[in-house]
Amino acid sequence: MFWRRLCFFVFFAMVVSPAKATTVMSRLQQCPVCQKEFVTREFGSWFQFSEPERDMEGSLFSAVSKVKTCPYCLFTALPEGFERLETNEAVAVRQALKDLSKRVKRLPQMEQFQTTDGTSDSLLKLMEYRVAEVCDSMRKKDLARSAELAFAEYRISKYYPVLENFTLVTTSRLRATTSIEAALTGNAWTNRDKAFWTYLSGELRRCNGDVEGAVRRLDEAANSSACPIEIARWAKEQAGKARAGDTNSSLPNIKLHRDETEALLAELPAKLPRMLTAISTGQPSSEWLLSGEAKTWTNSRVNEMASKGNADAVNFLVAWLSRLTAKELKERSGSIGHVAWLIAKHRTLVDSALFQKLKFQVPGMRDVMIYAVQAQEIPQSAEKSITRGSDLDAVGEAAVAIATVHQDKAVKPLLRAHLKKSSGYGWVEAVGKFFSDVGTIDDIPALEASAKKFQPDRKKRFDWPDSSMREDIEAAILSIRLREVFAIQ
Ligand SMILES: [Zn+2]
Repeated sequence: MFWRRLCFFVFFAMVVSPAKATTVMSRLQQCPVCQKEFVTREFGSWFQFSEPERDMEGSLFSAVSKVKTCPYCLFTALPEGFERLETNEAVAVRQALKDLSKRVKRLPQMEQFQTTDGTSDSLLKLMEYRVAEVCDSMRKKDLARSAELAFAEYRISKYYPVLENFTLVTTSRLRATTSIEAALTGNAWTNRDKAFWTYLSGELRRCNGDVEGAVRRLDEAANSSACPIEIARWAKEQAGKARAGDTNSSLPNIKLHRDETEALLAELPAKLPRMLTAISTGQPSSEWLLSGEAKTWTNSRVNEMASKGNADAVNFLVAWLSRLTAKELKERSGSIGHVAWLIAKHRTLVDSALFQKLKFQVPGMRDVMIYAVQAQEIPQSAEKSITRGSDLDAVGEAAVAIATVHQDKAVKPLLRAHLKKSSGYGWVEAVGKFFSDVGTIDDIPALEASAKKFQPDRKKRFDWPDSSMREDIEAAILSIRLREVFAIQ
């Protein structure tokens, strides 16, 4: 209840109070089912950039109302329900988690996500919500808790790469609507909460295409004396839309840039062939970066195009890596791995004639690019970087990312040996991602021992980087366990 109250408070306070910066805290939390500790994230404060979507997406309410999962036993629930697990519920949940693979509902989309993106965040979320459903069903019946869970899943589903069909969004929206309305018939919520959820059920019905049902509920919320003012205003607006037959869902519509920057970025696909020639023939950056404010966004937009399989973009990234000096590579640590990952993923698009002509500033980077394209053995220079024991350099970071794409099990013993040594932030991130995708149940003891080395100080609100490193390792443990349960390897 505390979290929900806090969310309402901050959500309504934001309209009248000056903005505060958004801060995220990581802390150790004890799992009420297996008693082990793991790192979770919480919001310290929240900055509302713009009005939330009409289904609350983009609000603090939606930011905190996402499931968390214990990486050690897979107990999953929304934060509020996670902490309020009763003793007899814990017993029932523990029992169910033992044969979880028989209880969870598999979805065909899981296979699709796996083939297109590896173990992506979307795939993990999809699995977590399936586990949450099992845990919820083992607990004392609480219609409000189940409705809040179904609604959280619906919001998450809007961000899945839905592969050109919206089945997941529509089915989870329908399930959320049913679940919310079931809870509204009971005494689960206070009058204020009831008005809020009545509004939401109306808005979801509108998006489901049920105009009549939407208007009835939206009007009911708007006319309720317990309805918060802001929500009553929304209810009137959305009822107007429904009456006009507008059933558009409120899909994310976040504007990152000013219009002129957006216009410059829109020219990128047409300009890219010329930019590729410029970057691969040693011309100055003014020739291969967009101008104005769009300059700083060139690379991230090229990354986006590469991830969609644009050949010019993939080759541009190879040429970009070739031009970076050791110092520049170091400054960009953290993003080099992602670029290498994209290149390996789309290796068939790399133009070999162009590659031959490139002059690499760092020879080790040329070697890892050959590893990316040919998927053979990891080069010795990268192996050295991995076994050296301190933090990874850019060559090692790229190599581990490429090994993740190739599912190169030969690299695993090197990384497992490295887990025993103390290591830096860049290393843990790359290795965590590798084990998330390639790790198996036998890797868990080594990963668990490694996670325990990072003990964030409980007295500090945010003990970085220890909490963050532990989180990366625990994310790998979670991914391995979830893939095991759903038999996705
Ligand atoms: Zn647990």
